[in-house]
Amino acid sequence: METLLLKNIQTIYTFNNQDQIHEKADILMEDGVIKFIGKEYHPKEGSLPVQEVDCTGLVALPGFVNTHHHLYQTLFRGIKEVQEKPLFPWLRGLYQFWKYLTPEAVYYGALVGFSELLRTGCTYTADHHYVFPEGQPETLIDTQIQAAKEIGIRFHATRGSMSLGVDQGGLPPMSVVQKETKILEDSERLIHAYHDSSRYAMTQIALAPCSPFSVTTDLMKETAALARANGVLMHTHLAETMDEERFCLETYGKRPFELMESVNWIGNDVWFAHGIYLSEDELNRFSGCGIAHCPSSNMKLNSGICKTSELYRKGIKLGLAVDGSASNDGSNMMEEVRRMYLLNHLKYGTQGLTAYESLRVATRGGAQVLGRNDTGYLDVDMAADLILFDLNDIAYAGCHDPLVSLVCLGNHSYTKMTIVNGKIVSKDGKLTTIDVAEIGKKAHACAVNLVETARKTFQPV
Ligand SMILES: [Zn+2]
Repeated sequence: METLLLKNIQTIYTFNNQDQIHEKADILMEDGVIKFIGKEYHPKEGSLPVQEVDCTGLVALPGFVNTHHHLYQTLFRGIKEVQEKPLFPWLRGLYQFWKYLTPEAVYYGALVGFSELLRTGCTYTADHHYVFPEGQPETLIDTQIQAAKEIGIRFHATRGSMSLGVDQGGLPPMSVVQKETKILEDSERLIHAYHDSSRYAMTQIALAPCSPFSVTTDLMKETAALARANGVLMHTHLAETMDEERFCLETYGKRPFELMESVNWIGNDVWFAHGIYLSEDELNRFSGCGIAHCPSSNMKLNSGICKTSELYRKGIKLGLAVDGSASNDGSNMMEEVRRMYLLNHLKYGTQGLTAYESLRVATRGGAQVLGRNDTGYLDVDMAADLILFDLNDIAYAGCHDPLVSLVCLGNHSYTKMTIVNGKIVSKDGKLTTIDVAEIGKKAHACAVNLVETARKTFQPV
């Protein structure tokens, strides 16, 4: 049995059903599950010795949950040809780079993204991988799952897809779209190979056609049927920009959300990335769908501002996300929490979310969006996914609320410790599971090679 005892934590914010806050308390974990939270844990007589960590002066929270990413994009940051463009031209430019994606690039891209996430407090992440270039093996998601296991992050992979190429009126070039039969076959293969529906699962699969402008309505309907037959979640980009809304109205005569209603994409098992352009009436028909809010990406691509306060007050499932690293450009969850808070206050002023509510979205909210009731808050019998911060640095002196320190002061992004499944995966910004310096070098070399190849044939957008 693997045990870990965190002793004498200054403050534990549980975000549990009672919103409990413990002062000077201990947390005991056994085999990846929390077994005790409270004052002075004393081992039972005859029990095995436990690994003990002194946490005097530290603040503990549930680990952050990242509900939307494109990990492969970590290798395509700072591409000058697209850097300041809005979504559609940005995509048209980047497709020309992404078509050179290899399994090696997906592997290193995932490790780079996971490293940033873990060091900045994310213990559970989703990814949306939808680029499967012609001529490359189809095992790109398998590669990501291998990387997640090696680094030790809880992972919700999605089998993304693009089937509506430029020749059929879609946005992506034909070199990155796939046949729908192939997409559905591979989706089924991945579910059977990797989806773990048990409590405390480290790996799950969802199905994720990319967006209304890159897949057909037939694929949306068939994906929904396949997902529901296998009990897995469904995910897509929706209502991200006005360009997308115009595309949907011109192509289908429907607004993006109406399009989802017409292809059976509404329900408890669906989450959308962005959800900016949704009307009041559409929010009232949301029926259990969740939203992955991506503040940095929305600001960088000039997409718009998500209605976060309305979603939160209406009880719609709302999680936070860094989005792909080409539009953020980082995978820093601490920064993302701060940006969510600031962007929310730009829109809502005094009706904005508090620091506590913002952290609730980033933890428990995200877990709900990803369909999990075993992580996202701290309690006995919950997964041992938690993060600890040291707020004794001079940067925090004079702040009277630890949560405001974490959300609003924007000083330290790295956790003191990130614990996933009962194991310390990151300590003082250093990962315990992989050699980040070595991975960083290999990832950058791989990225330079891909981008140089793509630049030889790049057509300006
Ligand atoms: Zn995205």
